[in-house]
Amino acid sequence: RLQVEGLTRRFGGTAVVDDVSLTVAPGQVTCLLGPSGCGKSTTLRMIAGVEHPDAGRIALDGRVVSEGGLHLPPEQRAVGLMFQDFALFPHLTVAGNVAFGLGGSRDDKARRVGELLEKVDLSGFGDKHPHELSGGEQQRVALARALAPRPRIMLMDEPFSGLDNRLRDGIRDATLEVLKEEGTAVLLVTHEPEEAMRMADEIALMRAGRIVQRGAPYNVYNAPVDRAAAAFFSDIN
Ligand code: ATP
Ligand code: MG
Repeated sequence: RLQVEGLTRRFGGTAVVDDVSLTVAPGQVTCLLGPSGCGKSTTLRMIAGVEHPDAGRIALDGRVVSEGGLHLPPEQRAVGLMFQDFALFPHLTVAGNVAFGLGGSRDDKARRVGELLEKVDLSGFGDKHPHELSGGEQQRVALARALAPRPRIMLMDEPFSGLDNRLRDGIRDATLEVLKEEGTAVLLVTHEPEEAMRMADEIALMRAGRIVQRGAPYNVYNAPVDRAAAAFFSDIN
């Protein structure tokens, strides 16, 4: 479970993230949705631990990882990360990429890698190298790699925006299925209303650093909080 309260970050006197509070339960997908520059990535980076908030509190599975002067480093937060430029290690095989950072015995690792490659529908791809894969296949390897250490919480920043339209829907659905199966709490950042409508259990609509509306996709879409929110959704059909 991810819990964020009063998260705030200022750059040069402006609060680019302003008193943001969020909860994401296990197996749930919350989409942080909003226009470019509204503070989505900065929010995610603070939760990941690569950026420090000026105020607020972050708890992961009940453990406070950021509050006041305390900021645990990213590697102690045990969150999974997936970003748009999800670089795989080019010199490692698919299996090597997925196993990277996994502890345990050789057998344990091989078992986990096999299980994950099956989940992302890439059984038999373990010995290939990233350059031999399509963009969509690489994205699925990145997902398997992010899930390998069984993070309870997954942070995703526009992970599908590098994919072409035809591929994207299938990858989104496959990704959701795997994340739900693993019971991961997911915070997914996107600036595309259509993506949030498709992926989210809950949408948190962000504007100029603040969350202006939260709710089920259907409700946020049908009862926008104001004209600007309505306009933001109006290009979906
Ligand atoms: P996009 O959809 O374009 O990725 P975003 O919602 O992810 O946008 P952020 O990257 O969080 O936006 O940036 C929010 C604001 O904070 C922007 O105005 C950005 O210019 C500013 N900002 C981000 N990082 C810094 C920094 N290190 N120093 C100064 N300003 C920053
Ligand atoms: Mg961003």
